[in-house]
Amino acid sequence: MKAIPYGRQNIDQDDIDAVVKTLSADFLTQGPKVKEFEGKFAEYVGAKYAVAVNNATSGLHLAVLALGLKEGERVITTPITFAASANCVRYAGGEVWFADIDPDSYVLSLESTRELIESKPKGFFKGIIPVDFAGLPVNLEAFRTLANKYDLWIIEDACHAPGGYFTDSKGIKQMCGNGNYADIGIFSFHPVKHIACGEGGMITTNSETLHKKLSLLRTHGITKENMAENHGGWFYEMQELGFNYRLTDIQSALGITQLAKNNTGVARRNEIANAYKEAFNGKIKFQSLQENAVNAHHLFVIEVEDRKGLYDFLRTHNIFAQIHYIPVHTLPYYKGIGYGSADLSNSENYYSKCISLPMYPTLTNEEQAFVIEKTLFYING
Ligand SMILES: *Cc1c(COP(=O)(O)O)cnc(C)c1O
Repeated sequence: MKAIPYGRQNIDQDDIDAVVKTLSADFLTQGPKVKEFEGKFAEYVGAKYAVAVNNATSGLHLAVLALGLKEGERVITTPITFAASANCVRYAGGEVWFADIDPDSYVLSLESTRELIESKPKGFFKGIIPVDFAGLPVNLEAFRTLANKYDLWIIEDACHAPGGYFTDSKGIKQMCGNGNYADIGIFSFHPVKHIACGEGGMITTNSETLHKKLSLLRTHGITKENMAENHGGWFYEMQELGFNYRLTDIQSALGITQLAKNNTGVARRNEIANAYKEAFNGKIKFQSLQENAVNAHHLFVIEVEDRKGLYDFLRTHNIFAQIHYIPVHTLPYYKGIGYGSADLSNSENYYSKCISLPMYPTLTNEEQAFVIEKTLFYING
């Protein structure tokens, strides 16, 4: 059996053709492909605006800046995420506070977040960054109600979840990143995520003001719009201290063909998830899912007592399972600077047991059967 990774990109001939075509076009960057990708992505998730960026980490950075985060201001996120979800707060000089996860869905717990907020005076926190962990859509309607009560913004880190959705209390399907309950959504196009651009990211929002701000900050804070002066056709103004966080046309061309395959990819990921669930039901704990929701399944996570044992055993069979994630608050940087938190025992307990099994659209049924067989063999001793 050849090596089976936990995730991998899926590049077809149409992806290759699209990239090759942009190489001989007039624009390698800041051309028509970026705009086309933004338009198609916004439409796909059902948001008004999308801003393409060079990676999701840049997207998160621009998001906290556009929302006005200042030095010393406090933001709540989950420890069970990639470090970038928290690091963006630090880029703006803010303080990271961690609330605990739900022990079954593994996403930020509404109750833990509420308790943390209510343990402090009003105005203590500025925002919340929930993460659609593994592809599971956070119930943002509930988070919005909480956020409104305490005047907080919400950034949805939807890096794992393009194509995922939950159903709100009115029975309306809410696609991850559609901006109906969160102020801003963030997606990543790192090859291990659903849509591969090499590097890349997308910011989504329904706010015209935020869209303008994000677009300005992405390109050095330079614009030709709303200028105080105008000396001629060449003239521009740098109105804020921005960055060069742009995505290229080459990457956007790839993003467009990759996006077109996302529904098929998510459907296949769910087929794989269902086969795992059927095999493990009653034997091994796996991530739960609320009713009327679709997990986009960037990952398929299980919990086992002897996690290190299973991880090593699978490797001897060329199965490269992975661990998502080392809790962010336990990383040396965060331990060193200090952080505020709720009781994080669910997160720490989860980390001691979690392991992500292979999950990607081109995983074959045979390969998956092999993974299941080896996993059950190890668990049953
Ligand atoms: C991958 C990831 C990021 C960062 O994405 P990049 O595009 O690599 O910068 C941020 N948050 C989460 C949850 C991720 O999985």
